[in-house]
Amino acid sequence: MVILMIGPPGAGKGTQVERLSRRYCLDKVGTGDILRQEVVKKSELGVKVEGYMKKGQLVPDDIIIDVVAGRMEWGSGCRGYLLDGFPRTQEQAQRLDHLLQERGEKIDLVFNIEVSEPELIRRISGRRICTKCFRLYHIDYLKPQVDELCDYCGIPLIQREDDREEVVRKRLTLYREETEPLLEYYRCQSKLIDINGNSHTEEVFRQISAYIDSHLTHGSRSKKAELK
Ligand SMILES: [Zn+2]
Repeated sequence: MVILMIGPPGAGKGTQVERLSRRYCLDKVGTGDILRQEVVKKSELGVKVEGYMKKGQLVPDDIIIDVVAGRMEWGSGCRGYLLDGFPRTQEQAQRLDHLLQERGEKIDLVFNIEVSEPELIRRISGRRICTKCFRLYHIDYLKPQVDELCDYCGIPLIQREDDREEVVRKRLTLYREETEPLLEYYRCQSKLIDINGNSHTEEVFRQISAYIDSHLTHGSRSKKAELK
């Protein structure tokens, strides 16, 4: 079973990926993590990747595909793979399909976690971090005991540059432009399932699990109506 997770920054995708991989014994394949590990290890691949990153360029598709293929070669004893952060473009999606085909596999389900823009902005721009211990806080959801001060270090919390509202808006616009063709690609294959990510983590998890359970039972996705 191969499942793909798509969602904007702030959609809570990481949390869902973590829980789903444990519940269904799916091996997480996150290209971001793998590339970062390679850079830290200073492997041949890592050195190449770091070169692109330093120049502020995207890592080319060829390298990404090699990374994913290599990662899948390991096998894992799990039931399948949960892809996170890859593919990002339609070109990558086609090449992934080809790669899976060679292995006699295919993508089973693609979950698109949708969250409204005001909610994403609230979630991300409300984040605060302690510059000393790096603990994360949120002005609405995870408040420090004393306003804007770290509970442990007592020093003022800061907002990361990336989390500022104007920057978040730009990130979301870029995300939509990049992702739209990808969603269309999977929608055409009837693999795309839109998930309402505005609700609580638990509810989102329940919805996704229901689709996976149904897929495991019936071998294909069932209609939304049956799950409601
Ligand atoms: Zn602190």
